[in-house]
Amino acid sequence: MKLAMIGFGQAGGKVLDKFLEYDQRHGSKIVRSAVAVNTAKADLMGLEHVPEENRILVGQSRVKGHGVGADNELGAEVVEEDINEIQGAIDQIPVHEVDAFLILAGLGGGTGSGGAPVLAKHLKRIYTEPVYGLGILPGGDEGGIYTLNAARSFQTFVGEVDNLLVFDNDNWRKTGESVQGGYDEINDEIVKRFGVLFGAGEVETGDTVAESVVDSSEIINTLAGGGVSTVGYARETVENDQSSGGILSKFTGGNESKAEDTANTTNRITSLVRKATLGRLTLPCEPEGAERALLVTAGPPAFLNRKGIERGRKWLEEQTGSMEVRGGDYPIPESNHVAAVVLLSGVTNVERIKDLQRVAVEAQENIEEIREESEEKLQELVGDDEDELEPLF
Ligand code: GDP
Repeated sequence: MKLAMIGFGQAGGKVLDKFLEYDQRHGSKIVRSAVAVNTAKADLMGLEHVPEENRILVGQSRVKGHGVGADNELGAEVVEEDINEIQGAIDQIPVHEVDAFLILAGLGGGTGSGGAPVLAKHLKRIYTEPVYGLGILPGGDEGGIYTLNAARSFQTFVGEVDNLLVFDNDNWRKTGESVQGGYDEINDEIVKRFGVLFGAGEVETGDTVAESVVDSSEIINTLAGGGVSTVGYARETVENDQSSGGILSKFTGGNESKAEDTANTTNRITSLVRKATLGRLTLPCEPEGAERALLVTAGPPAFLNRKGIERGRKWLEEQTGSMEVRGGDYPIPESNHVAAVVLLSGVTNVERIKDLQRVAVEAQENIEEIREESEEKLQELVGDDEDELEPLF
């Protein structure tokens, strides 16, 4: 699936940079065009893979290239004001060659949190291609203001995109790690999961079995209908020795060993599908109630066994209670892994979002209370007791 990606703010820019690196490494051709937008000049300069002419500094007249300081209302305002500059970069994208737009942003900050929904609204007005969001939720230890920003941005962003894919930093945080080191690993995880998912629709089939290969329309149809999505992933190392003596030659051996290998590959796939769905999701939630799902099994074609995939798909139907569960292959002949990626779309049973909103409402009330109190206290401090002094003017 070919995407026009727009990375907003620091997190959005860094994840976009990683996607470009992933694309180069795997030759997956997911990112047809990449644009990074920020109010902070230093963050844009720190990017390595986004072409310089596609790095757009917005809000210069307001914040002088220094960022909006986690003020997402200001982030939304400056993006609205400078939307033509962003459109100028998007005008260079051959939109007829892309399947969809993907807007990436950390929802807890200022530029991405405020700007991403503004751009989504703008793009949806202009283009017929779907506009997806990849929204990153802040870690619980980042504090109230980040949670409040994320909760407000989440609500707004979901309403403006065709589907919001969510990644929750809190679910991936490791203790005892520097924030920077932690983000590098987290960003690798984000790109791996979404890379396999979107890469699936972009495979050049060659001599592989074309009818079972995932097509980008299957990804689009799973995401159609809107709402919130999460992605599960599990993989296992396999001995993919394509030369003589490897598993492939065993497949061509006697009937008995063939039957055994088939049973193994079937079981491997069904267990990978379970692990992917019940293990760590990009956004933790209950699969039950998901409106649609897509199962992608990736790896060397000989290990992608029909029966396993079909069983995995049926199991997903039971887990979600949805009849709209699609499935397909992503053949990667040279890989030493078999992986299952599960996209759950239209999820509604998400305790994490309810928690986020509770903390956000508390933070909002607390901020208002403190603001009112401090105004009173400042009046008390500045005014003299008997009100005898007069200001100069
Ligand atoms: P902005 O530049 O104003 O949009 O804000 P940032 O992108 O710096 O931060 C927004 C939120 O994104 C933070 O609260 C973090 O939760 C998250 N974040 C920042 N940098 C990264 C990153 O490199 N990776 C990930 N996964 N999250 C990040």
